[in-house]
Amino acid sequence: MALSRALTLVESRHDNHQKIAVEILDRCLPFTGNSVRVGITGSPGVGKSTFIEALGMHTLNKGARMAVLAVDPSSSITKGSLLGDKTRMEHLSRQENAFIRPSPASETLGGVAHSTKESILLCEAAGYDLIIVETVGVGQSETLVREMVDFFLLLILPGSGDDLQGIKRGIVELADLIVINKSDGNRRSLAQETQRDFKRALHLFPPSTSSWTVQVLLASALKQEGVTDIWTEIQKYVEEESETITSRRAQQNAFWLDYRFRDLARSKILKLPGLKKELDRQKEQLMQGHQSLTAALRVLEQELQRHFSS
Ligand code: GDP
Repeated sequence: MALSRALTLVESRHDNHQKIAVEILDRCLPFTGNSVRVGITGSPGVGKSTFIEALGMHTLNKGARMAVLAVDPSSSITKGSLLGDKTRMEHLSRQENAFIRPSPASETLGGVAHSTKESILLCEAAGYDLIIVETVGVGQSETLVREMVDFFLLLILPGSGDDLQGIKRGIVELADLIVINKSDGNRRSLAQETQRDFKRALHLFPPSTSSWTVQVLLASALKQEGVTDIWTEIQKYVEEESETITSRRAQQNAFWLDYRFRDLARSKILKLPGLKKELDRQKEQLMQGHQSLTAALRVLEQELQRHFSS
């Protein structure tokens, strides 16, 4: 499939592949931008793949063509995958109008996220009109995914009121919609309690989109309950917030240019002859207590200046 091959080129870090990827992306550009880009995050086991499958089947029945891309922070840290392997979403993957791509294996989370940003464009050019970017609610990946989607959906479990505090609070603040999954069986009343807690607390949070009220909805991905309301909410956002989406996409492009340029600058600087060696030498001195942090930095700064003035 041409799309899969193009995605492989975009994900590759080989110079030659990158050159071809740039050309493909340039040619695809006029055919991009026509999809709804939805980010979905949540802790492992919350039901992300079951939910995406349920939402996917619902939208396919309504005539959509959907692509699922993954940003898996574990692929850049350990070999194990937090998002599981390709066998997930089996039912969805057999549908003609669905395309599922696992997370690319890349060195850094930023690299993975950057190539996913480009992959969205390729999927759009291939005619997919709903693009889901899935990630795990650990570490930094959700912040990076927020920077490439129009709408950000957080899945939580009944009884997870603690997420309103501490580090998880930061993820709650990024969300345009919160869905309490597994609100079925004997967890139903606990889910309703969590819904009340979240609704109350959200009043105190800065809104992620100024004119948009973040809803807290109940769902059971397993029983395919609540999915219609969630899809309606996403469509409502697309209709009411089209200006927000346009300006957010422009800001996101600027964010990624900035992010990648800093990345590039850092790697080029570290490749300057002798600089890495000097950095190691200063580290050694510092660890042995012969040098202060400020003094070590000063030496490195002078070394840098020497490079730039020569
Ligand atoms: P992920 O790690 O977030 O992708 O979670 P999975 O989709 O793999 O789901 C983890 C487990 O939770 C599986 O055994 C699912 O069958 C189960 N599960 C997912 N959604 C629901 C739900 O709405 N209700 C119940 N009872 N179980 C669910």
